[in-house]
Amino acid sequence: MNLDHTHDPLARSWLASANAPGADFPLQNLPYAVFRRAGSTEPWRGGVALGDQVVDLAALAAGTLLEGVAAQGARACAGDALNDFLALGRPAWRALRHALFALLRQDAPATAQAAVRALLVPLADVEYRVPTRIGDYTDFYTSIHHARNVGRVIRPDNPLTPNFQWLPIAYHGRASSVVVSGTPFRRPWGQALPPGAPTPSFGPCKRLDYELEMGFYVGPGNAQGEPVPLTQAEDHIFGMCLLNDWSARDHQFWEMNPLGPFLGKNFCTSISPWIVTMEALAPYRVPFAHPADEPQPLSYLDGAANRAEGGIDVRLEVLLNTAQHRARGAAPHRLSATSFRHQYWTVAQMLTQHTVGGCNLQTGDLLGTGTISGPTPEEAGAIVELSAGGRQPIAISGSGETRTFLEDGDTVVLRGWCEAPGRARIGFGECRGEVLPALASVT
Ligand code: MN
Repeated sequence: MNLDHTHDPLARSWLASANAPGADFPLQNLPYAVFRRAGSTEPWRGGVALGDQVVDLAALAAGTLLEGVAAQGARACAGDALNDFLALGRPAWRALRHALFALLRQDAPATAQAAVRALLVPLADVEYRVPTRIGDYTDFYTSIHHARNVGRVIRPDNPLTPNFQWLPIAYHGRASSVVVSGTPFRRPWGQALPPGAPTPSFGPCKRLDYELEMGFYVGPGNAQGEPVPLTQAEDHIFGMCLLNDWSARDHQFWEMNPLGPFLGKNFCTSISPWIVTMEALAPYRVPFAHPADEPQPLSYLDGAANRAEGGIDVRLEVLLNTAQHRARGAAPHRLSATSFRHQYWTVAQMLTQHTVGGCNLQTGDLLGTGTISGPTPEEAGAIVELSAGGRQPIAISGSGETRTFLEDGDTVVLRGWCEAPGRARIGFGECRGEVLPALASVT
């Protein structure tokens, strides 16, 4: 990943809100979403965030400010999903990034500034939808700290399964129940085996959890039977989002042997609306390595570029905003914070593993990283870890409550951002979801 002038931390936009310290969407970020004015019947279309505004790419594509590959890219963003743009691949993604940067920078020609200003829509006025047509959604399981923490709950004598350190493991999830941030969902019903009970019971989930994850979107796909080598994996990755893999632990732990998660995971997955591109993340790449005394990746999962900069330092945090917080006007409780850099496998290794047997990924597919838990207990990315499987209630600041699992009315907010000395801070915005009460009956 080469850095260029679009990563210059000193670059400024003519839009003042993009230059504000701590802004998620400065000139160096330029993330993509699908939006329209909230409550309107406007067509959904692609947009790029800048400061507190959205650049309407359908409107931009209809004008004459762009040309060549960049114009082709903007036209591919004008519809109600970004698949056509993602399919174009890195040359088009880079051309549009560079063209937008030129139009939005402080020293852009005054006529261009005025023309772009006329097609901005305030972020505060918009609503979002899932930004691609997701054909398939796969969720990985690539934090060794999460695997050990959860493994201790399920299998105290043998927390880490023997495959974990050899391959990025995953399950195939449901694309149909992926929702955009802000969409509430009902507490699911399902079957669980209560501790010590001889037979399972059927009812609303009693152990509802969140999972702090990131997602990444597939750009150009691969043909069935043609694996993507590790050296080419990132050519197939457009960008990343925040992802919450809501989990019904009581249902999950009863049903998932021997085939894996089913109803425990398939009722809802939330994603942040904005996709931060791999280009924008380039300044935050970090080396990848397994500890020297642990299994090293097999050759098809190993490579010089992946070792040098396979990781990404994305700071992440989880906030809990309960009904009590809202009633009292209290600040949300921060459940945990960590970084994506601690993950045991990289996004390139995940994509290559997914295809190595011949599976074809398709443009717009969503791949989740699995829960992101850091090395210390406070960095755990799920409440089942923080509460030690429900045995240790967590004190919630601001409301005087405790939690072992999520309750009705709880809103979980994921946030992500990158920052480091000498580099422009960029943010992901947030991924928010509220737990609604279960249906009174499902029969
Ligand atoms: Mn998950």
